[in-house]
Amino acid sequence: TLTIGVLALQGAFIEHIHALNTLRSSEHISDVVEVRTKQELDLVDALIIPGGESTSIALIAERCGILEDLREFARTKPTWGTCAGLILLAKTAIHTKKGGQQLLNALPVTVSRNQFGRQVDSFSIKLSSQCLGHVSEKSVTGVVEPFEYVFIRAPAIVSVDDSEVEPLVKLPPGHGQTEASEDGLLVAVKYHKMLGTSFHPELTNDTRWHRYFVRMALAQEDSAATTVSPTA
Ligand code: GLN
Repeated sequence: TLTIGVLALQGAFIEHIHALNTLRSSEHISDVVEVRTKQELDLVDALIIPGGESTSIALIAERCGILEDLREFARTKPTWGTCAGLILLAKTAIHTKKGGQQLLNALPVTVSRNQFGRQVDSFSIKLSSQCLGHVSEKSVTGVVEPFEYVFIRAPAIVSVDDSEVEPLVKLPPGHGQTEASEDGLLVAVKYHKMLGTSFHPELTNDTRWHRYFVRMALAQEDSAATTVSPTA
């Protein structure tokens, strides 16, 4: 079973905690904890970095002295960044404040901050068949029901800088478009044990993306166990 942490420095962390708690009885989760310190980070098997404000989260993490620990964690253990969390995970961010901002530099993509406009331009969209790549819609949401994707001053993934990054969800054309993205913007990717999503599944009552992350983390645990101890 897994202990899952949610980085709780700023932003929508409580909502992720609630979503994970509703999965506890069915999904091999032994504990769900708020992470603010290195000691708490050391307790968890997988981590969610929530939405909020990526510059603030980075600044607070730096002041609390856990930015480097988060970098290390994201590189080695299952980590999911939603919205601001996706920006933090990325290797490169564009449309940042002057002088740039600290990133964890773990997910080889370029994200464009606030790609869909300001807070008032927030929107949600129901999609059922936009998934690409070999992790199909079926494995994430179970096909039956479309999923409600919520975007709040969201980033988009504007370039993928490693062929092992798997595209999961692309928006239909017409949202936050630039000439460079005429066939729709990429808003969810998987990279080894990392998941990055522009949207906020924790703001819906639908826990399918959380379930997907937990299962992905569990699969990682199992394969790690096999690798460390091949003869067990
Ligand atoms: N625009 C925010 C940022 O750049 C992200 C918004 C969100 O997480 N909902 O950090």
